[in-house]
Amino acid sequence: MSANLLKESGPREVFCGLTSIVWLHRRMPDAFFLVVGSRTCAHLIQSAAGVMIFAEPRFGTAILSERDLAGLADAHDELNRVVKDLLARRPEIRTLFLVGSCPSEVIKLDLARASERLNEELEGRVRVVNYSGSGIETTFTQGEDGALSALVPMLPANDEQQLLLVGTLADAVEDRLITLFRRLGINTIRSLPPRQSTDLPPVGKGTKVLLCQPFLGDTSRRLRDRGAEILAAPYPLGAEGSRLWMETAARAWGIDEATISATLDPLMERAKQALEPHRRRLEGKRIFLLPESQLEVPLARFLQRECGMELVEVGMPYLNRELMQRELDLLPDQTRVMEGQHVEEQLDRVRAARPDLVVCGMGLANPLEAEGIATKWSIELVFSPIHGIDQAGELAELFSRPLHRHQLLAAGKQD
Ligand code: SF4
Repeated sequence: MSANLLKESGPREVFCGLTSIVWLHRRMPDAFFLVVGSRTCAHLIQSAAGVMIFAEPRFGTAILSERDLAGLADAHDELNRVVKDLLARRPEIRTLFLVGSCPSEVIKLDLARASERLNEELEGRVRVVNYSGSGIETTFTQGEDGALSALVPMLPANDEQQLLLVGTLADAVEDRLITLFRRLGINTIRSLPPRQSTDLPPVGKGTKVLLCQPFLGDTSRRLRDRGAEILAAPYPLGAEGSRLWMETAARAWGIDEATISATLDPLMERAKQALEPHRRRLEGKRIFLLPESQLEVPLARFLQRECGMELVEVGMPYLNRELMQRELDLLPDQTRVMEGQHVEEQLDRVRAARPDLVVCGMGLANPLEAEGIATKWSIELVFSPIHGIDQAGELAELFSRPLHRHQLLAAGKQD
């Protein structure tokens, strides 16, 4: 392979790591995410999640006031008070994530020390974990990497053979993948994050990790430090990527080719049929992916190889060569892969190229639509059940639908 790897830096337009609380709190209903931040942070997280007025939400914000920010009040005392009130009101909380933000980082509030102190006081009744969701130099999926890597030191040690799926999946998708792995002959399969925050999987020399998401660099490093082996594979997006991902685990377990084919070939055939109507709409169309979710390279690989799209540029906030190499190997020669962002220059390139579809953040979608360019919000991709061979058709539909709608609107305008 030789994708054309480029870099740029400048103003960026991405969501911050607090956004990942939206899918993490759904995954672990017994956990609570307390953002230690400003009113802006509270506003972001409420609008990203949709305000849960009638339900007891599983996230909240300990607001740092102007007095805190000016260093006039002891923010530690205030945080202690908020945590105690919260835990008294919500005895069902088993894990409390203290989530740092730009404001808490700016005033250098030491959340690691706060967690340590709270853990001592709570004596195991609630586990307090901290990580940063700050938007300073990070993108929104790094919030999940931060949360999961903060859990790794708490995993019990155990060297038994197991497959560990790392990264949040929709429950139904995960159930299906586990069924398929069992059919292949892998019996001990666990997940991080688990469905209950207290049900942490063990880790050790017998652990082989398949990453479900490509943005888990810190988590995979920490798992490796605990003895786990990270299996190098493309990511389970699209039929081809998902098959290669499953095959990688099957080979690591020494499963024979006949069993792999018997299990996966019929799924591939069904996926091909599901993809066909979308491929007809997407084939030959030009796509520009702006950097935001860190899913851009696997998506580009899927859209080019399975849907016949032409890649104008594939942006990504940062490039972890080790975790992304198998994906880069599958891109066409000389694909323009841009790490980092200078949003103005990137938008100039979008305008000059006039692609048929742009994948971008919500803030950029409206202006581009107003200029007559069809867009797809990248954040939708992390909220949708898109992993696995069975989901390939749904994944393609997420791109074919906005393109089709755009074509209908354009045709309507001409009538
Ligand atoms: S963490 Fe930073 S980027 Fe995110 S909402 Fe708060 S202030 Fe804004």
